[in-house]
Amino acid sequence: MAGKLAIGSRDVLFVVDIQNDFCPDGRLAVPRGDEVVPLVNRLAGRFKHVALTQDWHPAGHQSFASSHPGRKPYETIEVAYGPQILWPDHCVQGTPGAELRWDLQIPHAELVLRKGYHREIDSYSAFYENDRKTFTGLGGYLRERGLNRVFVAGLAFDFCVRYSAEDAKHEGFDVVVIEDACRGIDINGSVAATRRVLAELGVGCALVEAVG
Ligand SMILES: [Zn+2]
Repeated sequence: MAGKLAIGSRDVLFVVDIQNDFCPDGRLAVPRGDEVVPLVNRLAGRFKHVALTQDWHPAGHQSFASSHPGRKPYETIEVAYGPQILWPDHCVQGTPGAELRWDLQIPHAELVLRKGYHREIDSYSAFYENDRKTFTGLGGYLRERGLNRVFVAGLAFDFCVRYSAEDAKHEGFDVVVIEDACRGIDINGSVAATRRVLAELGVGCALVEAVG
């Protein structure tokens, strides 16, 4: 995307899942996940509207390998809504790992949207859970507030950032992913697949310094 993107009053920045468990030493660490924090702090200061998402699972969540005897993290199983990657236990409600990363400094954030709190459904996207039928309410929130362009940054690029960006597009919003303010997990080529899918959908890509 050429040129600088000017931020307006109908734009919102989504800061996706920058939580202790997704940073180094966390239970589902995204490699170099902590590196996005200073970038996101700087970026957020340019936006009037910021929403944070927080992965927020009950203990024994279906997405945890520990909930399936004999299974290991990163294996895929079939559940009622299709394939589900199994993860290490992470972002359990009320635990330190589920807290937003300590050095995230976005005091003017207007919304903290929690997701993944239904025991039987995972939720990568900030809009719909993984069954693709259960809404989080975010689309209605954005529409009622007159916000129509969504910028997305955070963790992990190839899961929660990807699905949030895709679904924002499906919900009719303009979408820009701030790629240098994201880090990926990269399971079986998932980073390359994400780039391909986002390009096909017409989701914009920009760097932190090209926005503001
Ligand atoms: Zn999760």
